[in-house]
Amino acid sequence: MSKPVAIATWRFGLPGVKEAGEALGAGGSALDAVERGIRTAELDPEVASVGYGGYPNAAGVVQTDAAIHDGRTHGFGAVAALEGVRTPISVARRVMERCPHSMLAGAGAREFAQAQGFALEELLTEGMRRNYEEWLRNRDLERTGGIASHDTIGLVALDAHGDLCSGCSTSGLRYKSPGRVGDSPLSGCGLYCDNAVGGAAATGNGDDILRFAPCALIVEFMRSGAHTQEACRMAVERIMTNVSMRGKKEADINFIALRKDGEVGVAATRAEFHFAVWTPETGAQLHVIQRACPEQEPESEGALRT
Ligand code: ASP
Repeated sequence: MSKPVAIATWRFGLPGVKEAGEALGAGGSALDAVERGIRTAELDPEVASVGYGGYPNAAGVVQTDAAIHDGRTHGFGAVAALEGVRTPISVARRVMERCPHSMLAGAGAREFAQAQGFALEELLTEGMRRNYEEWLRNRDLERTGGIASHDTIGLVALDAHGDLCSGCSTSGLRYKSPGRVGDSPLSGCGLYCDNAVGGAAATGNGDDILRFAPCALIVEFMRSGAHTQEACRMAVERIMTNVSMRGKKEADINFIALRKDGEVGVAATRAEFHFAVWTPETGAQLHVIQRACPEQEPESEGALRT
């Protein structure tokens, strides 16, 4: 038997790990815990970058990316540029469980969701519509935040049977080009999971993240003996010392990871990166880590503090 653990990205991951923790505490699977936790953020219109109430693209349409990676079976399901479904993570799980393919995109993903019984609804809330219309009027990227606004709920869980699962869901970059797909639905990039080792998930600028398959790297670093924290830091370092990233001041690349023995790790290029952890002893708690980007603050090893 293992001690169950769940870890999620951002402050808005806190209700997600709480929900995941309830599933895990009741003896549920990591797969169910990840889906339940991520749905919590997707269904909350106050979470501006995930599911219902997420940011629209440049055409005013909310297009979401989501994926789930089951460490037990190495099963993988993903949706990209999906429109009209409040819970993309559940569609991703259906892709994994009921579709001969691993990823569906655009209209095909929506048709699959509809055929599976998911309701098609408007995901753009009134507040988001007003912001979008203001942006359309002046296209002032600086003043309106432009594409600087984006976040992903990434969640990794370990259940009492020792099984692991990783998942993530996002509406991607605000006012992105229609059809743009980020790192989140791509195996090895936005998430990765292997029951023999651990799981990882990413958040930040997916156009940078997806070029390096960092979540697969993190799992491989752990397989080679790195501690979870060190594996995350090494992935940040690998990207930031790459020739195409050198000197880039605005990099936004952040990882969470969970090892098979329950050890968690986090590394971020953000000055402060919030994440949430649930264990049976502590319940759901919010933590913050400081920048672990070697080019920006070499002295920081990204020590965990609550
Ligand atoms: N990685 C996501 C994307 O690029 C956004 C984020 O996590 O901030 O779509």
